[in-house]
Amino acid sequence: MCCSIHQQDPSVVLCLQCRKPLCESCANRFAVAHCQDCMRRYGDAYRRDNLRTLALSLILLLCGFGAAELLFRLDPSIFHPCSSIFVSVWTGYVIGGIPIGSRLFDVWLKGRTVEDNNSAQALIRWWPIKIFVCMMIGIALSPWMALRFTKDLWAWSKNSRTSDP
Ligand SMILES: [Zn+2]
Ligand SMILES: [Zn+2]
Repeated sequence: MCCSIHQQDPSVVLCLQCRKPLCESCANRFAVAHCQDCMRRYGDAYRRDNLRTLALSLILLLCGFGAAELLFRLDPSIFHPCSSIFVSVWTGYVIGGIPIGSRLFDVWLKGRTVEDNNSAQALIRWWPIKIFVCMMIGIALSPWMALRFTKDLWAWSKNSRTSDP
């Protein structure tokens, strides 16, 4: 069999996803034996997931900000009487961090072995713990992740603009 991209080269492996034959150089292009099309599909799916996470975070950020601001106006004694804007921004930030934390937590879980995975999943089946863990991860990593997503999207939009005929 010959490579599906380089007709003159013999194939050494099949794409793990779509079973297309790949030559030596095609097989070694990515860490796993995947053809270009499957890799692009993965990239698109990954970008879509990140975009969804980021959008959800922004919506929750605004909701958290709005809710805290409203509560503060209704009864300022609910919070410690420091600046209401600070409390509102912080509340929004904490709530907005949950989707990012949850995404990173899922990625981390998928990398575990089966046994680890089971025990971790048994622990987080109690959803308040899961939300708390995701919140903590989100608070710590949200700014960094937001920056990375934005950079990713920027590079992607620049690429798609230059590759258009
Ligand atoms: Zn493929
Ligand atoms: Zn090839």
